[in-house]
Amino acid sequence: MSLEFRHIAHAYTGRTGRVEALSDIAFTAPSGKITCLLGSSGSGKSTLLNLAAGLLPVQAGTISVDGNEMAAPGINPPPEARPVGLVFQDGALFPHMTIAKNIAFGLPRSGSIGGDEALIEEWLERVGLTGLGPRFPHELSGGQQQRASLARAMAPEPQVLLMDEPFASVDIVLRRRLRRDCRRLLREAGTTTILVTHDPEEALDIADQIAVMESGCIIQFGTPEDLHERPTTPSVGAIFGGAQIVSATRKGDALITSMGAWPLSCVAGDVPEEAELDLLVHAETLGCVADPQGLEVVDVHPLGVASRLLLQSVQGEEITVQSTAPVEEGARYRVVPHAGSVRAFLKT
Ligand code: ADP
Repeated sequence: MSLEFRHIAHAYTGRTGRVEALSDIAFTAPSGKITCLLGSSGSGKSTLLNLAAGLLPVQAGTISVDGNEMAAPGINPPPEARPVGLVFQDGALFPHMTIAKNIAFGLPRSGSIGGDEALIEEWLERVGLTGLGPRFPHELSGGQQQRASLARAMAPEPQVLLMDEPFASVDIVLRRRLRRDCRRLLREAGTTTILVTHDPEEALDIADQIAVMESGCIIQFGTPEDLHERPTTPSVGAIFGGAQIVSATRKGDALITSMGAWPLSCVAGDVPEEAELDLLVHAETLGCVADPQGLEVVDVHPLGVASRLLLQSVQGEEITVQSTAPVEEGARYRVVPHAGSVRAFLKT
Protein backbone atom coordinates (compact mmCIF):
# COMPACT_ATOMS: atom_id res chain seq x y z
CA MET A 1 0.00 0.00 0.00
CA SER A 2 1.57 3.29 -1.09
CA LEU A 3 0.93 6.65 0.54
CA GLU A 4 0.99 9.68 -1.77
CA PHE A 5 1.26 13.31 -0.75
CA ARG A 6 0.28 15.90 -3.36
CA HIS A 7 0.64 19.68 -2.96
CA ILE A 8 0.34 19.56 0.80
CA ALA A 9 0.61 22.92 2.54
CA HIS A 10 -0.06 23.70 6.18
CA ALA A 11 -0.05 26.83 8.35
CA TYR A 12 -0.59 27.29 12.07
CA THR A 13 -2.33 30.42 13.27
CA GLY A 14 -1.66 31.32 16.86
CA ARG A 15 -1.29 34.28 19.21
CA THR A 16 2.00 35.21 17.59
CA GLY A 17 0.65 35.16 14.03
CA ARG A 18 0.78 32.71 11.16
CA VAL A 19 3.49 30.05 10.75
CA GLU A 20 3.83 28.40 7.33
CA ALA A 21 4.87 24.92 8.47
CA LEU A 22 4.68 23.11 5.09
CA SER A 23 4.56 24.25 1.48
CA ASP A 24 3.91 22.21 -1.66
CA ILE A 25 4.98 18.85 -0.31
CA ALA A 26 4.80 16.08 -2.93
CA PHE A 27 6.23 12.58 -2.63
CA THR A 28 5.17 8.96 -2.52
CA ALA A 29 6.02 6.54 0.26
CA PRO A 30 6.16 3.32 -1.79
CA SER A 31 4.50 0.10 -0.74
CA GLY A 32 6.47 -2.01 1.72
CA LYS A 33 9.36 0.47 1.94
CA ILE A 34 10.74 2.62 4.75
CA THR A 35 10.69 6.34 3.93
CA CYS A 36 12.44 8.67 6.36
CA LEU A 37 11.52 12.31 6.83
CA LEU A 38 14.80 13.88 7.86
CA GLY A 39 15.28 17.47 8.94
CA SER A 40 16.27 19.69 11.80
CA SER A 41 13.84 20.76 14.49
CA GLY A 42 11.05 22.95 13.10
CA SER A 43 11.42 21.76 9.48
CA GLY A 44 7.86 20.41 9.42
CA LYS A 45 8.37 16.64 9.87
CA SER A 46 5.86 16.11 12.67
CA THR A 47 3.26 18.29 10.97
CA LEU A 48 3.47 16.10 7.87
CA LEU A 49 3.26 12.90 9.92
CA ASN A 50 0.29 14.22 11.90
CA LEU A 51 -1.54 15.10 8.68
CA ALA A 52 -1.06 11.52 7.46
CA ALA A 53 -2.14 10.13 10.83
CA GLY A 54 -5.33 12.20 10.98
CA LEU A 55 -4.19 14.13 14.05
CA LEU A 56 -4.32 17.39 12.04
CA PRO A 57 -6.87 18.32 9.33
CA VAL A 58 -5.53 18.72 5.81
CA GLN A 59 -5.77 22.39 4.77
CA ALA A 60 -4.44 22.10 1.22
CA GLY A 61 -3.49 19.21 -1.06
CA THR A 62 -4.34 15.53 -0.84
CA ILE A 63 -3.09 12.37 0.82
CA SER A 64 -3.97 9.20 -1.08
CA VAL A 65 -3.59 5.51 -0.38
CA ASP A 66 -2.92 3.38 -3.45
CA GLY A 67 -4.27 6.19 -5.60
CA ASN A 68 -7.50 6.60 -3.60
CA GLU A 69 -7.94 9.92 -1.81
CA MET A 70 -7.81 9.42 1.96
CA ALA A 71 -7.59 13.02 3.19
CA ALA A 72 -8.12 16.44 1.59
CA PRO A 73 -9.56 19.78 2.71
CA GLY A 74 -12.91 18.91 4.31
CA ILE A 75 -12.16 15.15 4.19
CA ASN A 76 -10.36 14.17 7.37
CA PRO A 77 -11.17 10.70 8.65
CA PRO A 78 -10.01 10.13 12.26
CA PRO A 79 -6.88 8.04 12.92
CA GLU A 80 -8.86 4.88 13.71
CA ALA A 81 -10.59 5.06 10.32
CA ARG A 82 -7.22 5.10 8.50
CA PRO A 83 -5.08 2.03 7.67
CA VAL A 84 -2.28 3.44 9.80
CA GLY A 85 -0.45 2.54 13.00
CA LEU A 86 1.39 5.12 15.10
CA VAL A 87 4.58 4.99 17.19
CA PHE A 88 5.67 8.08 19.11
CA GLN A 89 8.98 9.13 20.59
CA ASP A 90 8.03 8.34 24.17
CA GLY A 91 6.25 5.10 23.30
CA ALA A 92 3.00 6.45 24.75
CA LEU A 93 2.04 3.12 26.32
CA PHE A 94 -1.03 3.10 28.55
CA PRO A 95 0.57 3.28 32.02
CA HIS A 96 -2.25 1.48 33.85
CA MET A 97 -2.20 -1.55 31.52
CA THR A 98 0.28 -4.43 31.43
CA ILE A 99 2.49 -4.76 28.36
CA ALA A 100 0.33 -7.70 27.19
CA LYS A 101 -2.84 -5.59 27.55
CA ASN A 102 -1.16 -2.70 25.74
CA ILE A 103 -0.38 -4.99 22.80
CA ALA A 104 -3.88 -6.49 22.92
CA PHE A 105 -5.46 -3.02 22.84
CA GLY A 106 -5.51 -2.53 19.08
CA LEU A 107 -6.20 -6.13 18.11
CA PRO A 108 -9.54 -6.99 16.56
CA ARG A 109 -11.23 -9.57 18.78
CA SER A 110 -10.21 -12.85 17.20
CA GLY A 111 -13.17 -14.84 18.55
CA SER A 112 -11.13 -17.95 19.25
CA ILE A 113 -10.36 -18.43 22.95
CA GLY A 114 -6.71 -17.83 23.57
CA GLY A 115 -6.19 -16.49 20.02
CA ASP A 116 -5.09 -13.08 21.21
CA GLU A 117 -2.84 -14.52 23.91
CA ALA A 118 -0.93 -16.59 21.36
CA LEU A 119 -0.57 -13.56 19.09
CA ILE A 120 0.60 -11.38 22.00
CA GLU A 121 3.20 -13.98 23.01
CA GLU A 122 4.36 -14.12 19.40
CA TRP A 123 4.80 -10.34 19.28
CA LEU A 124 6.56 -10.24 22.65
CA GLU A 125 9.00 -12.79 21.28
CA ARG A 126 9.46 -10.92 17.97
CA VAL A 127 10.42 -7.71 19.72
CA GLY A 128 12.63 -9.45 22.30
CA LEU A 129 10.32 -9.09 25.32
CA THR A 130 9.48 -12.75 25.95
CA GLY A 131 8.05 -13.21 29.45
CA LEU A 132 7.55 -9.49 30.11
CA GLY A 133 3.84 -9.39 29.17
CA PRO A 134 2.60 -9.17 32.81
CA ARG A 135 4.78 -6.14 33.62
CA PHE A 136 3.59 -2.55 33.61
CA PRO A 137 5.32 0.04 31.40
CA HIS A 138 7.14 1.68 34.34
CA GLU A 139 8.73 -1.71 35.10
CA LEU A 140 10.54 -1.69 31.73
CA SER A 141 13.60 0.25 30.54
CA GLY A 142 13.20 2.99 27.90
CA GLY A 143 14.37 0.65 25.15
CA GLN A 144 12.01 -2.10 26.26
CA GLN A 145 9.13 0.36 26.32
CA GLN A 146 9.90 1.35 22.74
CA ARG A 147 9.95 -2.33 21.76
CA ALA A 148 6.57 -2.76 23.44
CA SER A 149 5.10 0.21 21.59
CA LEU A 150 6.46 -1.17 18.33
CA ALA A 151 4.72 -4.48 19.07
CA ARG A 152 1.51 -2.65 19.97
CA ALA A 153 1.59 -0.69 16.72
CA MET A 154 2.50 -3.65 14.52
CA ALA A 155 0.32 -6.39 16.05
CA PRO A 156 -2.87 -5.18 14.32
CA GLU A 157 -0.89 -5.42 11.04
CA PRO A 158 -1.43 -1.85 9.82
CA GLN A 159 -0.65 -1.40 6.15
CA VAL A 160 1.07 1.88 6.94
CA LEU A 161 3.13 2.63 10.04
CA LEU A 162 3.91 6.23 11.00
CA MET A 163 6.80 6.62 13.44
CA ASP A 164 7.77 9.94 15.06
CA GLU A 165 11.39 9.82 16.33
CA PRO A 166 10.78 6.28 17.66
CA PHE A 167 14.34 5.71 18.91
CA ALA A 168 15.11 9.20 20.22
CA SER A 169 14.73 8.38 23.91
CA VAL A 170 16.91 5.25 23.75
CA ASP A 171 20.67 5.37 24.36
CA ILE A 172 22.96 5.12 21.34
CA VAL A 173 24.09 1.47 21.60
CA LEU A 174 20.58 0.14 22.20
CA ARG A 175 19.28 2.49 19.54
CA ARG A 176 21.36 0.81 16.81
CA ARG A 177 20.14 -2.62 17.90
CA LEU A 178 16.52 -1.49 18.16
CA ARG A 179 16.76 0.13 14.74
CA ARG A 180 18.11 -3.07 13.19
CA ASP A 181 15.37 -5.18 14.78
CA CYS A 182 12.73 -2.66 13.75
CA ARG A 183 13.96 -2.64 10.14
CA ARG A 184 13.87 -6.44 10.03
CA LEU A 185 10.32 -6.60 11.44
CA LEU A 186 9.04 -3.94 9.04
CA ARG A 187 10.63 -5.70 6.05
CA GLU A 188 9.25 -9.08 7.11
CA ALA A 189 5.76 -7.62 7.50
CA GLY A 190 6.05 -5.58 4.25
CA THR A 191 4.73 -2.53 6.11
CA THR A 192 4.82 0.81 4.31
CA THR A 193 6.57 3.03 6.84
CA ILE A 194 7.17 6.74 7.27
CA LEU A 195 9.72 7.44 9.98
CA VAL A 196 10.61 10.90 11.27
CA THR A 197 14.15 11.52 12.43
CA HIS A 198 16.62 14.39 12.79
CA ASP A 199 19.59 11.96 12.76
CA PRO A 200 21.22 11.48 9.30
CA GLU A 201 23.01 8.31 10.47
CA GLU A 202 19.68 6.85 11.47
CA ALA A 203 18.10 7.75 8.13
CA LEU A 204 21.02 6.26 6.17
CA ASP A 205 20.83 3.13 8.29
CA ILE A 206 17.14 2.36 8.15
CA ALA A 207 15.61 4.08 5.10
CA ASP A 208 14.94 2.79 1.63
CA GLN A 209 14.45 6.43 0.70
CA ILE A 210 14.80 9.75 2.43
CA ALA A 211 12.92 13.04 2.11
CA VAL A 212 15.24 15.79 3.37
CA MET A 213 13.17 18.66 4.79
CA GLU A 214 14.18 22.27 5.34
CA SER A 215 11.81 25.11 6.31
CA GLY A 216 8.66 23.21 5.35
CA CYS A 217 9.93 22.00 1.96
CA ILE A 218 11.49 18.79 0.69
CA ILE A 219 14.88 19.84 -0.64
CA GLN A 220 15.89 16.38 -1.92
CA PHE A 221 14.18 13.02 -2.12
CA GLY A 222 16.13 9.89 -2.94
CA THR A 223 17.80 6.70 -1.80
CA PRO A 224 20.54 6.89 0.85
CA GLU A 225 23.03 6.37 -1.99
CA ASP A 226 21.56 9.26 -4.03
CA LEU A 227 21.86 11.63 -1.10
CA HIS A 228 25.34 10.50 -0.16
CA GLU A 229 26.79 10.40 -3.67
CA ARG A 230 24.72 12.97 -5.56
CA PRO A 231 23.55 15.76 -3.25
CA THR A 232 21.64 18.44 -5.15
CA THR A 233 22.23 21.17 -2.56
CA PRO A 234 25.25 22.04 -0.39
CA SER A 235 23.28 21.40 2.79
CA VAL A 236 22.39 17.83 1.73
CA GLY A 237 26.09 17.26 0.94
CA ALA A 238 27.02 18.57 4.36
CA ILE A 239 24.38 16.46 6.13
CA PHE A 240 25.09 13.14 4.39
CA GLY A 241 28.61 13.28 3.06
CA GLY A 242 30.12 14.91 6.13
CA ALA A 243 31.27 17.70 3.79
CA GLN A 244 31.93 21.31 4.76
CA ILE A 245 30.58 24.33 2.90
CA VAL A 246 32.98 27.12 1.89
CA SER A 247 31.84 30.28 0.07
CA ALA A 248 33.86 31.25 -2.99
CA THR A 249 33.97 33.48 -6.06
CA ARG A 250 35.61 32.40 -9.29
CA LYS A 251 38.22 34.85 -10.58
CA GLY A 252 39.99 33.46 -13.65
CA ASP A 253 41.86 30.31 -12.68
CA ALA A 254 41.32 30.85 -8.96
CA LEU A 255 38.56 30.38 -6.44
CA ILE A 256 38.71 33.18 -3.88
CA THR A 257 37.63 31.91 -0.44
CA SER A 258 38.05 33.14 3.10
CA MET A 259 40.50 30.21 3.49
CA GLY A 260 42.71 31.64 0.75
CA ALA A 261 42.82 31.32 -3.05
CA TRP A 262 42.35 27.79 -4.39
CA PRO A 263 43.14 26.63 -7.94
CA LEU A 264 40.06 26.23 -10.15
CA SER A 265 41.26 22.69 -10.92
CA CYS A 266 40.16 21.56 -7.45
CA VAL A 267 36.54 21.64 -8.69
CA ALA A 268 35.04 18.72 -10.57
CA GLY A 269 33.05 20.19 -13.50
CA ASP A 270 32.63 23.63 -15.05
CA VAL A 271 32.26 26.90 -13.16
CA PRO A 272 31.18 30.16 -14.87
CA GLU A 273 33.54 33.15 -14.64
CA GLU A 274 32.75 35.46 -11.65
CA ALA A 275 30.29 32.87 -10.25
CA GLU A 276 29.35 33.08 -6.57
CA LEU A 277 29.65 29.54 -5.20
CA ASP A 278 29.13 27.24 -2.29
CA LEU A 279 31.92 24.67 -2.35
CA LEU A 280 31.53 21.25 -0.74
CA VAL A 281 34.86 20.06 0.63
CA HIS A 282 35.87 16.98 2.61
CA ALA A 283 38.43 16.96 5.43
CA GLU A 284 40.18 13.93 3.87
CA THR A 285 40.74 15.65 0.51
CA LEU A 286 42.29 18.85 1.83
CA GLY A 287 46.06 19.13 1.66
CA CYS A 288 48.05 21.26 4.15
CA VAL A 289 51.23 23.20 3.42
CA ALA A 290 53.13 25.02 6.20
CA ASP A 291 52.75 28.77 5.63
CA PRO A 292 53.36 31.58 8.18
CA GLN A 293 50.58 33.61 6.44
CA GLY A 294 48.16 30.66 6.53
CA LEU A 295 45.34 29.54 8.82
CA GLU A 296 45.99 28.85 12.49
CA VAL A 297 45.60 25.34 13.94
CA VAL A 298 43.24 25.86 16.89
CA ASP A 299 42.49 22.21 17.73
CA VAL A 300 44.19 18.85 17.14
CA HIS A 301 42.13 15.70 17.61
CA PRO A 302 44.11 12.41 17.22
CA LEU A 303 42.28 9.64 15.35
CA GLY A 304 44.78 6.78 15.33
CA VAL A 305 47.03 7.10 12.26
CA ALA A 306 45.73 10.55 11.29
CA SER A 307 44.64 13.63 13.21
CA ARG A 308 41.71 15.95 12.64
CA LEU A 309 42.83 19.54 12.66
CA LEU A 310 40.61 22.54 13.10
CA LEU A 311 42.03 25.58 11.35
CA GLN A 312 40.81 29.13 11.69
CA SER A 313 41.08 32.11 9.36
CA VAL A 314 41.75 35.65 10.68
CA GLN A 315 38.03 36.36 10.21
CA GLY A 316 37.29 33.44 12.57
CA GLU A 317 35.97 31.02 9.93
CA GLU A 318 36.87 27.39 10.55
CA ILE A 319 37.68 24.38 8.42
CA THR A 320 38.50 20.80 9.38
CA VAL A 321 41.29 18.90 7.65
CA GLN A 322 42.83 15.48 8.14
CA SER A 323 46.59 15.09 8.47
CA THR A 324 48.93 12.13 8.98
CA ALA A 325 51.88 14.42 9.79
CA PRO A 326 52.40 15.53 13.42
CA VAL A 327 50.95 19.02 13.91
CA GLU A 328 50.97 21.37 16.91
CA GLU A 329 48.27 23.79 17.95
CA GLY A 330 49.23 27.35 16.97
CA ALA A 331 51.04 26.24 13.78
CA ARG A 332 49.97 27.91 10.51
CA TYR A 333 49.03 26.17 7.29
CA ARG A 334 47.69 26.94 3.87
CA VAL A 335 44.88 24.58 2.93
CA VAL A 336 44.43 23.43 -0.67
CA PRO A 337 41.88 20.84 -1.84
CA HIS A 338 43.08 17.96 -4.00
CA ALA A 339 42.43 18.35 -7.73
CA GLY A 340 38.85 17.48 -8.73
CA SER A 341 37.80 16.80 -5.10
CA VAL A 342 35.43 19.77 -4.65
CA ARG A 343 31.80 19.98 -5.74
CA ALA A 344 30.65 23.51 -6.59
CA PHE A 345 27.07 24.81 -6.38
CA LEU A 346 25.99 28.20 -7.72
CA LYS A 347 24.70 30.28 -4.82
CA THR A 348 20.95 30.73 -4.94
P1 ADP B 1 9.61 19.27 13.26
O1 ADP B 1 8.75 18.07 13.52
O2 ADP B 1 10.45 19.13 12.02
O3 ADP B 1 10.41 19.70 14.45
P2 ADP B 1 7.11 20.72 13.26
O4 ADP B 1 6.26 20.09 12.23
O5 ADP B 1 6.85 20.36 14.70
O6 ADP B 1 8.64 20.51 12.91
O7 ADP B 1 6.96 22.31 13.16
C1 ADP B 1 7.05 23.02 11.92
C2 ADP B 1 6.85 24.50 12.19
O8 ADP B 1 5.53 24.72 12.67
C3 ADP B 1 7.78 25.08 13.24
O9 ADP B 1 8.09 26.39 12.86
C4 ADP B 1 6.94 25.07 14.50
O10 ADP B 1 7.35 26.09 15.39
C5 ADP B 1 5.55 25.32 13.95
N1 ADP B 1 4.49 24.70 14.78
C6 ADP B 1 4.36 23.40 15.07
N2 ADP B 1 3.26 23.16 15.82
C7 ADP B 1 2.68 24.38 16.00
C8 ADP B 1 1.50 24.83 16.69
N3 ADP B 1 0.70 23.98 17.31
N4 ADP B 1 1.24 26.16 16.66
C9 ADP B 1 2.02 27.03 16.02
N5 ADP B 1 3.14 26.68 15.36
C10 ADP B 1 3.47 25.37 15.34
